[in-house]
Amino acid sequence: MKTSIATVSISGALDAKLRAIAAAGFDGAEIFENDLLSTHLSARDVAKLMGDLGLACTMFQPFRDLEGLPEPQRTRAFDRLERKFDVMAELGTDLLLVCSSCSPLAESDRARMIADLHEAGERAAKRGLRIGYEALAWGRHVNDHRDAWALVRDVDHPALGLVLDSFHSLARGIPSSSIGDIRPEKLFIVQVADAPVLEMDHLSWSRHFRSMPGQGEFPLDDWADAIRRIGYEGYWSLEIFNDRFRAGSATSVALDGYRSLKILEGGITKPSGFQTDMPPRVTTSGIEFIEFAASHEEADALETMLRPLGFRPVSRHRSKDVTRWKQGPINIIVNCEPEGLAHSFDSMHGASVCAIGVVVDDVPAALGRADALRIQRFEQAVAPDEWPIPSVRGVGGSLVYFVDAATREAMWAHEFPTVLEAEAPPLLSRIDHVAQTMQYEEFLSWLLFYVGLFDVRKTPQLEIADPMGLVQSQAVQTPDRAMRITLNGSLAAQSLSSRFIQNYFGAGVQHIAFETQDIFAVAEQAKADGLERLDIPHNYYDDQEARWGLDPALTDRMAAADILYDRDGEAEYLQFYSRAFARRVFFEIVERRNYDGYGAVNAPIRLAAQARHKPEFLD
Ligand code: MG
Ligand code: MG
Repeated sequence: MKTSIATVSISGALDAKLRAIAAAGFDGAEIFENDLLSTHLSARDVAKLMGDLGLACTMFQPFRDLEGLPEPQRTRAFDRLERKFDVMAELGTDLLLVCSSCSPLAESDRARMIADLHEAGERAAKRGLRIGYEALAWGRHVNDHRDAWALVRDVDHPALGLVLDSFHSLARGIPSSSIGDIRPEKLFIVQVADAPVLEMDHLSWSRHFRSMPGQGEFPLDDWADAIRRIGYEGYWSLEIFNDRFRAGSATSVALDGYRSLKILEGGITKPSGFQTDMPPRVTTSGIEFIEFAASHEEADALETMLRPLGFRPVSRHRSKDVTRWKQGPINIIVNCEPEGLAHSFDSMHGASVCAIGVVVDDVPAALGRADALRIQRFEQAVAPDEWPIPSVRGVGGSLVYFVDAATREAMWAHEFPTVLEAEAPPLLSRIDHVAQTMQYEEFLSWLLFYVGLFDVRKTPQLEIADPMGLVQSQAVQTPDRAMRITLNGSLAAQSLSSRFIQNYFGAGVQHIAFETQDIFAVAEQAKADGLERLDIPHNYYDDQEARWGLDPALTDRMAAADILYDRDGEAEYLQFYSRAFARRVFFEIVERRNYDGYGAVNAPIRLAAQARHKPEFLD
């Protein structure tokens, strides 16, 4: 896949944008006219810089309001066109994007449009240039790529071709099968954007909400396969207008862009039907362990929560100050090492989750996928007798370990040979989900990380009311729910999420949810053993009784155990929360009765309860 990105997609001055684009790995870039108008560099300087950076100039864009104009506007439009041709010669690109006209003066006379596009093709050909014609979703007379293609086909000029832009086609719901009619030599370039499905006018939707492939909800896999099927071999160029990206770091947005095209190449929600070098997404059978970095004092505090929840310290690391807490299949590692990543993590962030171990069948393939997406590997010196577990950098600088499914028991036996305590009868059955909190600006970036690396699907995006502002929340989960991760980002400076990030110095795990088959038993046992729960006000239970027609005896039991409740059809969800450990991380216990969500409806109740404990949950 030949990769390109429009300079409008990222922040900064044009030269900085181009450096970021080249560093991310792109083959080329489209120069957005406003970026050229606002730089101190001449068009020739830009061409030289792109040459030095190894970037092709894939297109100059956009040229608006060409076809269908009456005189004298028509003559003026063609004069303007000649001026742009001069710039293109200096920029070193032969392709100009002409969008379908939005001018109120443009006439719907098709013969006139054909004549104008033919004239443009003639003029371009004289200068050795080409014109790519694109149907804007809000074009006055041409707003459908089928109509744009019919014009290009009927003009039949070698210097006039089509530009397909996924946004304009998919926002209007145009079937991708219609791409089959397009001749590949007439498809000059393909522009790619994803977007959430929104009910709003096409122009505002396009200008503010476009996103990278994989971050939105458009059916891009079918669209891209339809383009490959006709034999297109040109550039795939991102054209993303998004307020968040324009406020973000050019380097990281460019890297996300490159990553998103590689994800598209292999298929976003299903493997592409075409040959690709992209290793497949990593399938996982779940989370093998969660590792906390902590001082000894913090580890003692953590113990007061782990024990009542049924964990026991079962073994110690062969050479390090690291303890394995366990019950059934759930492993919590507490790392008190005075040096290394865990220690620097603890010094920087305070006691917190520094790594997650994910079980994979094929470790080299998982690393291959990460490399192809330019996800950074983490290398740390390993003693000769230590078990090597490869890892990559994840959210907030934490690690994602790839644990080999075939050898994990051997790994535990080798790494943790010193037996401490026997396991207690398990209260919890598995890790249900891990909740990570991040800056609103990085939310889409981490979403892309997960959907790119792992075989996971996104749930719909939700907005959750914190007493101090809105929090955006979305989950990624494997098809079999073996791994579920929820992502939360907040714009509101004083929401719990934002305070978490401020006090924690960055993104990270905010809570871990464990599943049980009997939540009442866990709530009672844990309390008897000293676990403090987050208390839920009685008004909540009155409402639950009224809302669902629950038996008052049941709501009394839930109230006594601070258990929150949700229902989806016949499916039920019961959940309770611990108080915070190290004023930061907390635990959730859930019982799922065929319920597939996360109790989002209860999140405002939980957040308000935590806000009442504000000195404890971050001040
Ligand atoms: Mg476009
Ligand atoms: Mg949760």
